[in-house]
Amino acid sequence: MPLSFASRLDNVETSAIRELFKLLGKPGIISFAGGFPDSAMFDVEGLREASQRALAEEPGGALQYGATEGYEPLRTQLAAFERSKGVADLEPHQLIVTTGSQQALDLLGKTMIDPGDKVIVEGPTFLATIQCFRLYGADVQSAPIDAHGVQVDRLEEMIKEHKPKFVYLIPTFGNPSGALLSLERRRKVLELAVKYKVLIVEDDPYGDLYFGEAPPPSILALTKEVPGSREWVAHCGSMSKVLSPGLRVGWLVAQPELLAKATMCKQFSDAHTSTFAQATAAQYLKSGRMPETLKNVRRKYGERASVMAESLRKELGDAIEFTAPQGGLFFWARLTGAGGKLKDANVLAKRAIENNVAFVPGAPFFAKDPDVATLRLSFATADVEKTREGIARLAKAL
Ligand code: PMP
Repeated sequence: MPLSFASRLDNVETSAIRELFKLLGKPGIISFAGGFPDSAMFDVEGLREASQRALAEEPGGALQYGATEGYEPLRTQLAAFERSKGVADLEPHQLIVTTGSQQALDLLGKTMIDPGDKVIVEGPTFLATIQCFRLYGADVQSAPIDAHGVQVDRLEEMIKEHKPKFVYLIPTFGNPSGALLSLERRRKVLELAVKYKVLIVEDDPYGDLYFGEAPPPSILALTKEVPGSREWVAHCGSMSKVLSPGLRVGWLVAQPELLAKATMCKQFSDAHTSTFAQATAAQYLKSGRMPETLKNVRRKYGERASVMAESLRKELGDAIEFTAPQGGLFFWARLTGAGGKLKDANVLAKRAIENNVAFVPGAPFFAKDPDVATLRLSFATADVEKTREGIARLAKAL
């Protein structure tokens, strides 16, 4: 008799891009495929000092079991961090610490989704979110985006049609889209939340990674401008992209009832996020090194992004279209087929590997109606020279 697994797994396939990742170990390959930050940019010295201080100053807190809601000094630091970005009056008890923002998404799925419930996400969106919500039985609907993020008129029609449990957005430098939701659309999203009483989940791991001008305030920060909107926003933050994904420190801000239910689910899941990681993150934020770290990562990723834009234009010309991102880690591009060149990014991905360069085809990032001409290129881990060389190889593959 084979093992009989839970039927909820029937809704989810292992990701198509996993297969591709297996090929990335090939020697000499230049990869634009991963979603990782560059390990060379981690502030190792700052984190070493922070972890040593965590052990020296509060070994009990850093090594003992802790509260499910999170380590108090970290909650205090995170609330201050959010306030520094315009979230009015945020108190430590209005957020919980999660094991990466991925866990916050899982907790939202667990607390909100019954099998068959509708959820609206952007098309395209973060693949792991689609999979996570489907695991809870969600019927995931996809709202179209353009260079300014989700198309709010279309979103309103879809909210009316589907009456979703919630709307999941990555408004700032989306993964994979790199798109930035405009200020006007952010306000409109909040108006929709209040009008239709629908929860907006704002996933924001990339908001601090901007290259020039700061992006508009987060949807959470803008709730102060739209009366009655605060209770309709859940906001997921993360230390992964600027500090370290290995720390697994994220956070969830939400209205009290939702936060209490998410906390209860977290208790049964991992009891609490690693206290050692939390104490280290708290010490790091307290150390005052964060502004310098942010400056560094913004400058370095910004440089790589502009080299990628320049190389794509030079090497691929009108065979590809894209809007250069103003932050985050990703270029989202579309093969145009100009000059009789390939239009299918799945085919190109295979040819690219033969030419020792890798990227991720865009189709799996769509919950509905995949666009096979799209692709995601990460500029995070290849330096400027490798980026130039990798895009030249991509042009050859095309
Ligand atoms: N949301 C988005 C949009 C992401 O791109 C990622 C990481 N790739 C996550 C959430 C999860 O990040 P973490 O759990 O490391 O905070």
